[in-house]
Amino acid sequence: MNIHFELLELRQKEKRITSEILNKLQEMADQKAYLKMGHSSLFDYLVRGLGYSEATAYQRQACVRLAKEVPEIKQKIDRGSLTLSAVTTAFKHLRRKSVAEKRKVLKSIENKSSREVKAMFLEPTPTLKVKKTEYVDKVHLRLELSHEQNEKLEKLKALKSHKHNVESLLMNLIEKELKLYENAQRKSSKPNESKELGAPKSKNPRQISKRLRNDVLRTANYKCQYPGCDSDHFLQIDHIHPVRLGGDQRRSNLQVLCSSHNRHKG
Ligand SMILES: [Zn+2]
Repeated sequence: MNIHFELLELRQKEKRITSEILNKLQEMADQKAYLKMGHSSLFDYLVRGLGYSEATAYQRQACVRLAKEVPEIKQKIDRGSLTLSAVTTAFKHLRRKSVAEKRKVLKSIENKSSREVKAMFLEPTPTLKVKKTEYVDKVHLRLELSHEQNEKLEKLKALKSHKHNVESLLMNLIEKELKLYENAQRKSSKPNESKELGAPKSKNPRQISKRLRNDVLRTANYKCQYPGCDSDHFLQIDHIHPVRLGGDQRRSNLQVLCSSHNRHKG
């Protein structure tokens, strides 16, 4: 039986360490100190900086985020009435809920197994299925729809006028979505910079031509160029010497930053 008691003791220690780590991670998240180290997010820091697997990192990150609003969950994890995996499952479904709602749901999952918690949040499986096969010269997408979804698709096709078949409709949707995304990115990058300062020509130095933009992105290999970071998410074109301090849109003054490092640079 000795070995059992030894394991019990170690298990206690393990729980204590988990909550100690969560506390420290909270500090790290509050100070955003990981940005200076070249990480684009707490998640990236957990994976590349601390060597957690992606799944484990996701759990830690979910706990830190939820504990910011509902701090008592740390003690509950400590005592064992809440597990990291239960908290993570709940986290995915709580994103847009109020703090009161979060607190209520977290209370309701106490002392439940991961399986029970998963069952509580079970969503109907989507009826749209895509099977993707890649070949050298093309990509095959096999799309499986329910009759209801197909009716919606037919309706959209009809509304869009008859020149559309499913193929052109799909291409149009993709182009439209991409354009929306690009516009949003252009608007969100550096909103505070003054427009007139130091512009070499009559042109607004914040405006970068598509060709130049693509060139900067290509040179950066579509990755953030902040030292140590290689994020390929939410990339923005940054003026190395800021526009508000007289920087212009010359090629040598442009680099790629992820949105976290662009914000961090300020
Ligand atoms: Zn970055």
